[in-house]
Amino acid sequence: MNELLQKSPEEMAGLQFSCSCGKTHSIDIKGVRIGSNILSDIRNYLKEFEKGTLLFIADSNTYEAGGREVESILSEDFKLEKVIFPNPHLHPDEEALGQLQGAMNSNIKAIVVVGSGTLNDLVRYLSYETKIPYVVVCTAPSMDGYASMVSPLITKGVKVTYDAVYPYSIIADLSIMKEAPFHMLHAGLGDIVGKYSALADWKLANILHGEYYCEITAQLVEKAVQQCVDSASGIMARSPESIRSIIEGLILSGMCIGMTGSSRPASGEEHLLSHTWEMLGLIRKQETHLHGNQVGIGTEIILHIYQYLLTLDIDKVYADGKFRSFTREKWEQNIKSLFGNVAPQIIQKKAPFINFTAAKREKAAQHIVQKWDELKTNVFLTMPSPISYLKMMEEAGSKLTPLDLKLDRESFRLSLLTAKEIRQRFGVMQILEDLGILEETVERITDFYYS
Ligand SMILES: [Zn+2]
Ligand SMILES: [Zn+2]
Repeated sequence: MNELLQKSPEEMAGLQFSCSCGKTHSIDIKGVRIGSNILSDIRNYLKEFEKGTLLFIADSNTYEAGGREVESILSEDFKLEKVIFPNPHLHPDEEALGQLQGAMNSNIKAIVVVGSGTLNDLVRYLSYETKIPYVVVCTAPSMDGYASMVSPLITKGVKVTYDAVYPYSIIADLSIMKEAPFHMLHAGLGDIVGKYSALADWKLANILHGEYYCEITAQLVEKAVQQCVDSASGIMARSPESIRSIIEGLILSGMCIGMTGSSRPASGEEHLLSHTWEMLGLIRKQETHLHGNQVGIGTEIILHIYQYLLTLDIDKVYADGKFRSFTREKWEQNIKSLFGNVAPQIIQKKAPFINFTAAKREKAAQHIVQKWDELKTNVFLTMPSPISYLKMMEEAGSKLTPLDLKLDRESFRLSLLTAKEIRQRFGVMQILEDLGILEETVERITDFYYS
């Protein structure tokens, strides 16, 4: 099985194997092509649809970055219908999706999207809904959605992860991607290093709640992270090797979501923080940073939490018994204070997963205490320190800090407290809450940045 770890994403496309985790993993992507000046290869990946009509999707920026060239290559063999979004700051919401749904018709045999984050999230879902395959031409190595099978979309103001499909093929032209703005290159790095935290949450859920876990998938993601960290310092020189490492890592990470049928290997509390900040931006009509940039910020915060966990005397934490003073009223109030009108739907979905009774809280805390050494050895101690993380990000040229989120102190504090409530998924913040020390830990971190 270890030979899998040696394979590039190009070699992994189309693989199917039965795994020691008990699942049969399949990567239903016809082809992945990564290289320089390779746009004309797109024809090879669309042969099946020759002479048919394609829906060509881009935005005004991605059209200039490579879209125009792709359009001219495709127009030799295909009839094209087009949607070019004039606004490159698109949100993955009902309005944008509606525009794409309106452009679909029975003549369209395949979709070609030229772009990165939001465009991919939208088209991946559109393809799932219409069963029309799509080919993506990546314009920036900025997020891990290129090979993903889920789509995070905003519905009624809440970021929800929907089932979606793998792309039919992925064309990643390094000569285009290396020219992407630096903040997009840093976003790709941020989305990848976020896997430290995602994998940790996954392992925590496995140890504490027996949640399904695949060792091979985790190792693949770890490999992707390591490859990117090793080449982070080449980003500011736009080194093609660094860009290749990042896009390979991002594609691999997306494949791992499909392999396990869940975003677990690629998304943990750091992603929930990013989703929360994005939702706040929408509610407050304020600009936010790119997904991956925010994931990078979230990761820094989560690494501080792991460092703090290592300093705890767990017997004393249990003896203090703060988990006994948790109340549903306070829990709901925090969500309402941050999310306003959107709060009721978050509360309704999450409440069944929270331990409100004294007996359940006692049991949850005891369980964590029993497993503490195992958690420490297998998770807490495996995490990089915040200092080494920041050094690596600095070498990559990324200087964002939590203060760049431009949140007031109270909103920042509440976002750390409540980000976990937007999903029904176990992670490190739930451990803190189950021990009754979430508020004080969040207070410490908030003080660290805001004093
Ligand atoms: Zn497996
Ligand atoms: Zn992500």
